[in-house]
Amino acid sequence: MAQHVARPTVNTPALPAKLPLSAIAPWAAFFGILMLVLLYFVGAEQGATSVVNGADVHEWVHDARHLLGFPCH
Ligand SMILES: [Zn+2]
Repeated sequence: MAQHVARPTVNTPALPAKLPLSAIAPWAAFFGILMLVLLYFVGAEQGATSVVNGADVHEWVHDARHLLGFPCH
């Protein structure tokens, strides 16, 4: 007796649901701004452009600064 293997009757690939651009745009803008702020704190929060007094922020992001190749010391 042959074994019966269940197979899908329609051979269509599974596709992800399409998201409208209007649903993605606010999140893209939010994370874009967040990344720019993070990039500022890693790359330029030092010396004349410093927003926060002291060297605390610089010390916290110091390794990331060197990892990303920003000039430091
Ligand atoms: Zn350094």
